[in-house]
Amino acid sequence: MIQVMTGDITRLAVDAIVNAANRTLLGGGGVDGAIHAAAGPELVKACAVFGGCPTGEARITPGFRLPAKFVIHTPGPVWHGGNRGEKELLASCYTNSLRLAAENGCRSIAFPCISTGVYGYPKRAAAETAVSTVLAWEEKLPEEIIFCCFSAADAAVCREVISRLAPEGGRP
Ligand code: ADP
Repeated sequence: MIQVMTGDITRLAVDAIVNAANRTLLGGGGVDGAIHAAAGPELVKACAVFGGCPTGEARITPGFRLPAKFVIHTPGPVWHGGNRGEKELLASCYTNSLRLAAENGCRSIAFPCISTGVYGYPKRAAAETAVSTVLAWEEKLPEEIIFCCFSAADAAVCREVISRLAPEGGRP
């Protein structure tokens, strides 16, 4: 049920890809920049109507020129050492994204490793929160959940965490 892959999330033909956005929702570097570049200029216009988004919350837009139907934008927490609610905020990025996916009938969703780029969240800790939050989600999960890692090293960390926390591959 949970799959891990290495690659560019903008290439995935899933119902929703998640964007590790910033609070302006107006684009930035990293995966955010890649998603805006691939979706085309309509995306920033669609995001502008939200007037930003608090850390840990999420907003949904169409995918425009992306193969994905929707983009779910969620600003992850900046890592400050772990005592500023980073873990809870990162977990809310995942739950709020799953909620929007469910509300919009998404059967497949792909997540990047939120906050682990310029926001500096330690990769293993971020993967543990991502995997445990998805597994603990009590409502209906999309049939296909992909952790789309940009590097093979990140994917290896993610696979190791899944094999530890979800040895059966997650609940059906
Ligand atoms: P944040 O600000 O949340 O840290 P970043 O975009 O800097 O966001 O990094 C988040 C993660 O997204 C990092 O693991 C980075 O390697 C990864 N990433 C960057 N570009 C892509 C892409 N095109 N597809 C998937 N993951 C990507």
